Amino acid sequence: MAKINVDPEKCTGCGTCVDVCPVGVYELKEGKSVPIKADECLLCRACETQCPAGAITVTE
Ligand code: SF4
Ligand code: SF4
Repeated sequence: MAKINVDPEKCTGCGTCVDVCPVGVYELKEGKSVPIKADECLLCRACETQCPAGAITVTE
């Protein structure tokens, strides 16, 4: 299963990860991205590569 880490210090709440994730892993809560459905992650790494703040790390 994927392990997803979002660094809240770096996250700006831009919503890019919410938009690019094909399975809806992320949700914005109080202006920060939270991986609420990490168990559905496909390991495509779209979020990791497209986060403008470099806040996301996806590991297997
Ligand atoms: S793409 Fe990056 S900066 Fe934007 S909401 Fe997601 S984690 Fe935060
Ligand atoms: S790696 Fe892909 S499936 Fe997993 S959270 Fe990121 S965008 Fe979603």
